[in-house]
Order: sequence, then C-alpha cells, then structure tokens
Amino acid sequence: MRMNIAAVAVAVLALAVLPAARDPVASSGDQNILPNNHEVTHVIIMVADGMGLADVTAARIRKNGINGPSLRFETLDEIGYQRTYSERNTVTDSAAAASAWACGEKFVNDEICIHGDGRPNNANLLELAKMEGWATGLVSTREITNATPAAFGAHVWFRDCENEIARQYVELTRPDVMLGGGKSKFNGTKPDPPPCVGDGDYISAAQLTGYKYVTDRATLQAAVTGGTNKLLGLFKSAYMTPEIMRSPTSVEPHLSEMAAAALDTLDRLNNRFLVMIEGGMIDLANHVEWLDAQVAEVSAFDDSVGVVVDWINASEERKQHTLLIVLADHETGGFAVMGSEVAGAEPLGWFSDGWTFKMPPPPPSTTSVAGHTGTDTMIWSQGPGSAALGKAIDNTTLYQVVKAVLR
Ligand SMILES: [Zn+2]
Repeated sequence: MRMNIAAVAVAVLALAVLPAARDPVASSGDQNILPNNHEVTHVIIMVADGMGLADVTAARIRKNGINGPSLRFETLDEIGYQRTYSERNTVTDSAAAASAWACGEKFVNDEICIHGDGRPNNANLLELAKMEGWATGLVSTREITNATPAAFGAHVWFRDCENEIARQYVELTRPDVMLGGGKSKFNGTKPDPPPCVGDGDYISAAQLTGYKYVTDRATLQAAVTGGTNKLLGLFKSAYMTPEIMRSPTSVEPHLSEMAAAALDTLDRLNNRFLVMIEGGMIDLANHVEWLDAQVAEVSAFDDSVGVVVDWINASEERKQHTLLIVLADHETGGFAVMGSEVAGAEPLGWFSDGWTFKMPPPPPSTTSVAGHTGTDTMIWSQGPGSAALGKAIDNTTLYQVVKAVLR
C-alpha cells in the first residue's frame, strides 16, 4: 500500500511539473557549464541497481556507525537526483531506465534502446564513444547481458532476449572489455524465451574474433597482466553469487576486482575510454527485502567506487579529465531506516541458484517491476561536465551530458 500511495504521489508531481522541465539541461541554460571538446578523456558510469537513499544510510551506519564517515561515493563533488519514470509507467524497470541513460529517450519497460512501435532510436553512448575512437567496457555482477549493461551495448525489443544481446555484443558493438555473469546466456545453454530466437554460442564466436575468455579471478588477473586487447570474463552461469553467500575461497572476482581489471585494460588500450560498471545485485537483495544482503551489496559497490576514485586520484591528468558518475536506475523495495531495522530483519525470500530468486507469491520474473518504486534516485558525480548532474534532472539528461563530452 505504501508503494501505491507513493506511485500516485509521484505521478501527480510529475504531471504538475513536467511541461516546464522536459529538458532540464537545455531549458535552464546549463549548456554553458558543459566542458569543451577534449576536456574529458575518461567517462566512468557506475550504476547501483535498485539502490534508494535509505540503502545508503543503512550501509553507512552498518559500516561506520550513525555519526561515522561517509561512504566513498557520498564524497563526490556534485550531488543531484533524477526522475526515473518510463515511457508509459511511473515505475520503471532497469531496461527502460538504463535505455534512458544510454540512448537519451524514454522507452517502454522491457525495451532495450529500441521502440516497439518502430520509431527510430538514438545510438547508445557506447556506440557514440566507439565512433569517436574511444575504448569501451561493460562490467556487472548480474548477467552481462542483463538489462542495464544491455542498454549500453545492444538494441532489442525485449530484455529477456539475452542470447541475442550477446550476439550483438560480439558481432556488432564489440566492447573491448565485458566482465560479469551470464555464461549460459552467451553459449545458448539457456536459449532465449519466445518471442526471442537466440540460441547461439557467442563465447566461441568471441574467442574466434580475438577475445580472451576468462572464467575466474586467477585467469582474469593473468589476462590483465598478460595484456589482452579484447577481454570477455563470464564468472557464473547466471548472476554472480551475492556477496553475503560467497565463501572465502570463492574464485569469483568481486566487483572491485572486475572494476580494476577493466580500468587497467581500457587505460592500456586507449587514452580515451567509456566504461559502465554495475552493482547489479543490490536490486535483487531489495526484491527479497533481505537487509543483510542489501548492505553487503551496497558495501561491495562502494568498495568498487573506492577502487575507481583511487585510480583517478593516482594521476593529475586523470583527475582533470575523468567524468565519474555514480547513480541508481530506480529504487527497489521501499526500504526505510527505522532504527531497529538497520540492526537486521528477516528476509522475505532467498536467492536460489537458478535464474531468478525465491520469494513468497507472486514470484517476480526478471522482467517485472514488482517491488520497484517510482521515487527519484540519487546521482553523485565529479569531473568536467558533472555540474550539469548536480541538480534535479530527468534520467535522459545523463545522455545529453555524456554525449557532449564524447568528442
Ligand atoms: Zn528489479
């Protein structure tokens, strides 16, 4: 009931203010604060899937205490927030939300940067970066073919066409680095559901066309040290193991290790690169309202932000020319910090080893927005161009800001 009231309130608010704020960057004259050509050489977009502000509060209190220091991403220079509604819904899914960032338009839930009614769509940010000669990368703890990374590297009608998304990665967009889960989506052992038709083996196809394929922490690190030019790491059949369920001897790399591997490889390949790094399991932890899992995922995401910020700070050139954006695509779970809840609560459900997660009925599929809310989500950023993100914006504005620096 809380979510329904919130959804109505947000819908009314959106209708009330939409006409005057359809294009926040352009309408407010902020083109002036966008950087000049060539001022930005690195764009790093870090996505905390499904993370609300209460999740940040909970993770910080658990890690540092009520009056303790900030998390790493909280210390970035600019802080803003964004509307997340999709083309037809107050409450978005990750497909429409990431497509709004990657292609700069509103899409219907389930669509990956393509309109089901046949209207033309923009090229995505990864394609624009490639056209400008930049290196590109996608990193996620979800399947690397899942909705958020998919919006940056593919165009499909329906987000569950993940084998087709893998095909487009390998045959069309060819990101230099791809790291995450989703082995079964790549090799067709879990063929696409109808109406998708994909059932190909794009691990073999990737290897035949120059990708070094790795499957665990040791082979990932060896590939980075060895200096590969195309890197495909698939560390689990479906999504990667939630932090809270990993054993100390797990051979799956943490998000922070994948982020470091991506930065090292992309930086070696090209003095200009764009990379999207997603903490994708925050959303699933929130779907099952498992606080301990949520805190562990937010903390791991913050560790990866720490790796990125340390990488930036290691060089004056990087500090001056890197646009770092940390943001959430939507809020999941309607979580609130009410004192004792931060100390722990019983989860509604549990992660399973299968395609999705167990939860009391109705079990949400990966395409459902059930459990998501329409509340605005945070954006932390720093570097040239970030001033345009340190305000109340629409999620499509991210595309305008990043496109402006991809020169
Ligand atoms: Zn979700």
